[in-house]
Amino acid sequence: MDHVFVCGNPALDFAATLRARRTARFEMFAAPDRLDAWYVESGIVDSVSPARQADVGRATAVREAAYQLITARRLGADFDDEALAVVNDAARRAPAAPQLTHSGRWTAATQREALSTVARYVVELLSGPDVPLLKECGNPECTRVYIDRSRGRRRQWCGMESCGNKIKAAAYRARRKTAVGSTG
Ligand SMILES: [Zn+2]
Repeated sequence: MDHVFVCGNPALDFAATLRARRTARFEMFAAPDRLDAWYVESGIVDSVSPARQADVGRATAVREAAYQLITARRLGADFDDEALAVVNDAARRAPAAPQLTHSGRWTAATQREALSTVARYVVELLSGPDVPLLKECGNPECTRVYIDRSRGRRRQWCGMESCGNKIKAAAYRARRKTAVGSTG
């Protein structure tokens, strides 16, 4: 399964790498190289030193703490102190540093640096102006949280591709079934 970036902020996309949290709980970082791929595909880094299993453990710990904090902010609840400590500890470390090269910008990072950068996105997001725009996807199985920047805040899905079309198709099938049932 490919990594998906639809939430409007790397912190939210990172938190969503445990998919379907209430049902299937599908782990996107099933192998260390999947974590490496996420860091690069997210655009946070251009290259990252290969992850070991311990790095995956650290990354998922920060991810779960981030999800907890994001959920608290979304629901207007208090932050959990332990979750704050996990994210802040990661954010305190040196982040990935962009470097200027002859062919442009290049950001090479260690695992710790890449994770620090993600943690800093969490800090910025949850202390910033987008907090009131945090919304959970309308597909109950999805559990992605995204930033709703649409006019009138009417966006219902993390993405049409990922969820909107699926739900609309299911609703259409359900309507059709009802219609067929009522005429028959
Ligand atoms: Zn969704």
